[in-house]
Amino acid sequence: MKVIAVEPGAGQPQVVERPIPEPGSGEALIRTLRVGVDGTDHEVIAGAHGGVPEGQDRIILGHEAVGVVEDPNGTDLEEGTLVVPTVRRPPNGPNRYFKAGEPDMAPDGEYYECGIVGADGFMAEYFTASPEYLVTLPQELAPLGILVEPLSVSEKAIQHAFASRSAFDWRPESALVLGNGSLGLLTLAMFQEVLGYDRTYCLGRRDRPDPTLDIIDGLGATYIDSRKTPMDEIPTEYEGMDIIYEATGYAKHAFETIEALAPNGVGALLGVPDDWEFELNGGQLHREFVLHNKALVGSVNSNRDHFASAVDTLSQLPTWFTDDLITNVSTIDDLEAAFDTDDTTIKTAVEFSRI
Ligand code: NAP
Ligand code: BGC
Ligand code: ZN
Repeated sequence: MKVIAVEPGAGQPQVVERPIPEPGSGEALIRTLRVGVDGTDHEVIAGAHGGVPEGQDRIILGHEAVGVVEDPNGTDLEEGTLVVPTVRRPPNGPNRYFKAGEPDMAPDGEYYECGIVGADGFMAEYFTASPEYLVTLPQELAPLGILVEPLSVSEKAIQHAFASRSAFDWRPESALVLGNGSLGLLTLAMFQEVLGYDRTYCLGRRDRPDPTLDIIDGLGATYIDSRKTPMDEIPTEYEGMDIIYEATGYAKHAFETIEALAPNGVGALLGVPDDWEFELNGGQLHREFVLHNKALVGSVNSNRDHFASAVDTLSQLPTWFTDDLITNVSTIDDLEAAFDTDDTTIKTAVEFSRI
C-alpha cells in the first residue's frame, strides 16, 4: 500500500510503499478515506516537534483521519462503519492514564502520538486500531471527518478552561481566539455557532483580502489585527475578554493573554512554540493574575469523550463554513498542494480512498 512518510528535518513528505498491516487480536483493519494536515504536521516535517518511531528514520505522517472499517476481525465493529481514530497509544502496555480513559493527561514517555511522536500515523491506505481507539460517526459526516480530531482538541481545552471557573457563578459573554489558522477558525466557529457567545473576536496578522478574514466576517466575529492592536490594548480598544483561546504558537501571547482577559477570565493555551527568550514585567503580570482572579490552563491532545463531543459539534457547524475552511483535498499524487502553506491555504487533506 501507499503511505506518506517523512524524515523529520531532512526533506518533504514522500509517497513510499509499505505492506498492508495485519490487524492483531482485538484490532480492526481500517481503510483510510481522508487525512487532514495541520500546523503540527508542518512542525513534524521540519523536525521541530515529535520524533520517529524507534528503529526507523522516517515516520508516517497524519493524525487527523477518517476511515471505514474494512475488516472487523472479530471486534464488535461492523464492516462499513465510519470511524475516526484517537491519537495517543501506550508505549509499553496500558498505564494508569490509558486505563482511566485519559491518555491526553499522560506525561512525556507514557504515550506515543500516531504521526507525531514515536508511532506511525494514518497517512496510509490502511491502518489498524482496537475499538477503544476509534470513535464512530454518521455516514453523512465522512467528507468532514478530518475535522473531528482538531475539534476534539478544542473540546478538551474549553472543558478544562470552564472547569477552572466552576467554583463560582461565572457568566462568560465574550471570547477571543488568537490565531486564524485552521485550529483558531474551528474554535471561533465553536464559540459563535455552538456555544452561542454574544461577542467573539479573532486575532491575526493579515491584510484584506484574505480567505481567513472572510471566514471571521462570515461568522459575525470581529477581526483584531495584532500589528495594529497589541494585546495589552485589547481591553481599552475592545473589551476585556472572558475567555481567550491561544492558537498561534507565538510565545508572548501566553503572557499577554493575562492582560487581555477581563476580571475572572480564563485563558487556554494550545500553541507549541520553539524556545524564545524575551523580557516581561513579571511583577505586573503576577499582580494582575491575583488581584483579578484570572486563570490560565495549558491543554494538549484529547480523549475519546472529547472526540464524541467533537462529532456532535461538527454536525452543528454551518456548511458554508466547512466548505470555505477546507481549501484543498488532494490525491496521493499531488502532495505539494496538501502541504502548501501559502495564504490561500487554510485546511488541506489527502484523500486515500474516494468517499
Ligand atoms: P497554523 O495553521 O500555523 O496557525 C497559526 C496561526 O496563528 C496562523 O494563521 C498565523 O498567522 C497566526 N499567528 C501566528 N503568530 C501570530 C501573531 N503574532 N499575531 C497574529 N497571528 C499570529 O497552526 P494550527 O494548526 O492552526 O495550530 C495552531 C497552534 O496550535 C500551533 O502552534 C499548533 O502546534 C498548536 N496545536 C496544538 C494542539 C494541542 O493539542 N495543544 C493541537 C493542534 C495544534 P499567519 O498564517 O498569517 O502567519
Ligand atoms: C494534535 C494533538 C497532539 C498535539 C501535540 C496536535 O496537533 O492534534 O493530538 O497531542 O499536536 O503533539
Ligand atoms: Zn493536530
